[in-house]
Amino acid sequence: MPPCPCQVSPKLDFLTKPVAYSDCCQPYHDSLLNDDTATIQAETAERLMRSRYSAFVMLKPDYIVKTTLPAQQDFLDINAIESWARATNWAGLEILEHTAKLGKRHAQVEFEAYFNSSENKDDGLKAHHERSTFLKVKSRADNSERWYFLDPTVEINISQKQPCICGSGEKFKRCCGLYV
Ligand code: ZN
Ligand code: ZN
Repeated sequence: MPPCPCQVSPKLDFLTKPVAYSDCCQPYHDSLLNDDTATIQAETAERLMRSRYSAFVMLKPDYIVKTTLPAQQDFLDINAIESWARATNWAGLEILEHTAKLGKRHAQVEFEAYFNSSENKDDGLKAHHERSTFLKVKSRADNSERWYFLDPTVEINISQKQPCICGSGEKFKRCCGLYV
């Protein structure tokens, strides 16, 4: 079985223990996309980041939308996400740093997402280098908490004085607004 897309890194010559998609990101994808209760959820920002990378590779734009901050989801263009994912020749992922606790409800993951920019793999390898911010958001319905990606390129449907999107009870500008 081929390894999960998030387990492939062009910087490593071989994988000592390749983890299959079905044992890695697939349970997260299936749970969020096919199961209303989404019982299997990313426990950490790094886990969510990995599963989002795999969702790009496996062309699951719904997963990308559903794991973006709820206050941003209306502003996402799912067709644009899908065509971009489809047009990219993905080549692997490398997590450089996972800052698991950046304030109470924030985390950052620094990574390189590799892709081939030409047919010639040797000189076509390039990387998107990103430091992404993730928020742990409390659901008003059942008080459960879940990690979401904060997309720095997308608007947020909130005013500076409203209670924060993460459910902390603070004003947005003093909480997650600091990271926007
Ligand atoms: Zn994976
Ligand atoms: Zn907040």
